[in-house]
Amino acid sequence: MDKRNIIVVGEVNNGNIHHVTYELTSKAAELGERINGYVEVLLLGYSINKEHIKRLFETGADKAIIIDNEKLGLLNDDYFVANIRKVLERENPYIVLTGATPQGRAIIPKLAIKLHAGLTADCTDLDIEAETDLLLQTRPAFGGNLMATIKTPEHTPQMSTVRPKVFKINENYNKKENIENIEFEETNSLIRIIEMIKSEEDNVNLADADIVVSGGRGVGNKENFSIIYDFAKKINGVVGASRAAIDAGWIPYPHQVGQTGQTVSPKLYFAIGISGAIQHQVGMKSSDYIVAINKDTNAPIFNIADYGIVGDLFEIVPKLIKLLD
Ligand SMILES: Cc1cc2nc3c(=O)[nH]c(=O)nc-3n(C[C@H](O)[C@H](O)[C@H](O)COP(=O)(O)OP(=O)(O)OC[C@H]3O[C@@H](n4cnc5c(N)ncnc54)[C@H](O)[C@@H]3O)c2cc1C
Repeated sequence: MDKRNIIVVGEVNNGNIHHVTYELTSKAAELGERINGYVEVLLLGYSINKEHIKRLFETGADKAIIIDNEKLGLLNDDYFVANIRKVLERENPYIVLTGATPQGRAIIPKLAIKLHAGLTADCTDLDIEAETDLLLQTRPAFGGNLMATIKTPEHTPQMSTVRPKVFKINENYNKKENIENIEFEETNSLIRIIEMIKSEEDNVNLADADIVVSGGRGVGNKENFSIIYDFAKKINGVVGASRAAIDAGWIPYPHQVGQTGQTVSPKLYFAIGISGAIQHQVGMKSSDYIVAINKDTNAPIFNIADYGIVGDLFEIVPKLIKLLD
């Protein structure tokens, strides 16, 4: 069987490679083993960190294709789309993966149109169908009430954006370094970016946290959320929340974990007063250890929890805080 290219369109912020790039590179290498795949990572940016590029080969890349230019330091869609398209047309990939980050979401749909390819956005899982070698792309559908698995048999490349923190990085590939540098191609653009402004979301670093302490509707009101903050502070955790708590206005949206919030994958996740609806689980189920505190023994969160504490959070959490004093 001929080699099938899987291209990960990576992301670079201020010269640093975004962790979703390594997550997708590792997943691409795993999928590639089943379809005689060849994993290429395409990176566009300015002054890209060389050590970060090396790490791509530890995490599963066979080749890195780099376009490094000052004009790619800020996200100008026109420059990115034109330069990525050129490489994709040359490489003719079987699969293209990119992060479902604001950057990936801005660029990839435009490329899919230009390449006459299908695109499954915001995937939460990827697999290969054994009989056909097609990419199986799983994502929430019908308002998030079920998970749909989508395949694109008619057109290649099969294109997906995938949420950060869905896949683990595997550092054990140690492939041989193979880097191709390509010249940036100037293109007409009416876009003029003056400055990138950080959103509040960037300051709530849930995605990279080792410990996340989330509160839900069971917390009861805004004032009571201080108990979640106190506990998080005690264990150096970052505060998360269910959508019910966000919708009630107890805590701002950047803290939301789940399908329409952030995906997290900490070492330790506390779900406090959270029932564990599928839309919440989708954003935290890949945590290493899940601890649930809930007064309802039948709460679905206990089905995925490693440790469950049944009881009133207002008794349990202060006791935990005291224990740690
Ligand atoms: C399209 C769509 C997208 C969605 N996206 C998200 C998302 O991104 N994130 C998300 O979280 N949800 C999302 N939801 C909503 C989701 O379906 C649930 O409604 C939501 O997660 C419920 O939040 P909760 O668990 O805090 O509240 P509830 O389901 O009401 O659960 C509260 C829990 O607290 C427990 N409790 C109450 N009092 C106490 C106490 N004193 N001590 C201990 N336990 C107590 C209860 O037993 C209960 O299990 C989405 C829904 C849809 C349709």
